[in-house]
Amino acid sequence: MQPRDLSAHEAYVPGRGAEEVARELGMDPDELTKLSSNENPHGPSPDAVAAIEDAAPEVHVYPKTSHADLTDALAERWDLASEQVWVSAGADGALDYLSRAFLEPGVRVLAPEPGFSYYPMSARYHHGDVATYHLSKADDFAQTPETVLDAYDGERIVYVTTPHNPAGTEMARADVVELLESVADHTLVVVDEAYGEYAREPSAISLLDDHDNLAVTRTFSKAYGLAGLRIGYAAVPESWADAYARVNTPFAANEVACRAALAALSDDDHVERSVDSAEWARRYFHDELDAKTWPSGGNFVLAEVGDATAVAEAAKRRGIIVRDTSSFGLPECVRVSCGTREQTKRAVEVLNDVVADVGVPEA
Ligand SMILES: *Cc1c(COP(=O)(O)O)cnc(C)c1O
Repeated sequence: MQPRDLSAHEAYVPGRGAEEVARELGMDPDELTKLSSNENPHGPSPDAVAAIEDAAPEVHVYPKTSHADLTDALAERWDLASEQVWVSAGADGALDYLSRAFLEPGVRVLAPEPGFSYYPMSARYHHGDVATYHLSKADDFAQTPETVLDAYDGERIVYVTTPHNPAGTEMARADVVELLESVADHTLVVVDEAYGEYAREPSAISLLDDHDNLAVTRTFSKAYGLAGLRIGYAAVPESWADAYARVNTPFAANEVACRAALAALSDDDHVERSVDSAEWARRYFHDELDAKTWPSGGNFVLAEVGDATAVAEAAKRRGIIVRDTSSFGLPECVRVSCGTREQTKRAVEVLNDVVADVGVPEA
């Protein structure tokens, strides 16, 4: 027996973990700093840790009230009705719910290239086809309505990532509005704000009042430091919000994650400190890295280093794990997550040495 034809599907390639790399190189994981997955170097909020400990003895019960409480808290935070908040297992789970709710077999989605690989993956899981729009390095990965609309051909879902992963660029709010108003009536625009807390532009969530062809995805994985728990959500228009009940996987967002997210949501100081720290690190990378970097609205920067695979490999042997963006179609760049001050300084030191050895391309 065989599964269905999966030849168009690609496996997700995550940033390598410190333990994994340590085993491979025979190093101690403590000697490695992982700056390859845009995680929060300050960890989760202490309040979230306490909530996780409190929830542990209760995990024999299905998550029901915790899910409802988190949904209500998010609705209040964003001034939405509770039905408009689709809590999910990571923002990736929310992308799946949107695929389930919108894709019929053979319909097409439009995703950025370079871009986050889960958009095409989710579409294909749900029997959709994938077209791409190009963000060009020559254009500094600018995200304008035209970059999307030039490639747009009536797709059912159009994905926008702002701040963009891996480039870091943002789409201005007025441009999101223009895009929403330019696409056909049947097209859903998904604005992925996985890095929204770090961004300069305000969230697109407030546009839901006036636009019913928009969904905004958010996550607790990045600024809230809860990546290991898999918790995120989509904010959707009131008019079709009841689809959630028909597409969600029962109890997919787990008890511990819901409780931790609720606690994290109340700890504004932790988020603020995390965002301030990332802003400092972005600046430091821009100023100190001997490589071209692009202005970033996220907790990472993209740096043009020449042979990314060689640079990432050499940096790893010196204890700094960065993301080689070859799999994003950028074999000359690495993406470096914002670390603590100490980690960020060390990363710059190592990368500058390595780039000097391996060589940067001629400008
Ligand atoms: C990290 C990330 C996500 C979602 O991550 P989850 O851990 O599934 O919440 C979504 N989109 C982009 C662009 C990301 O970088």
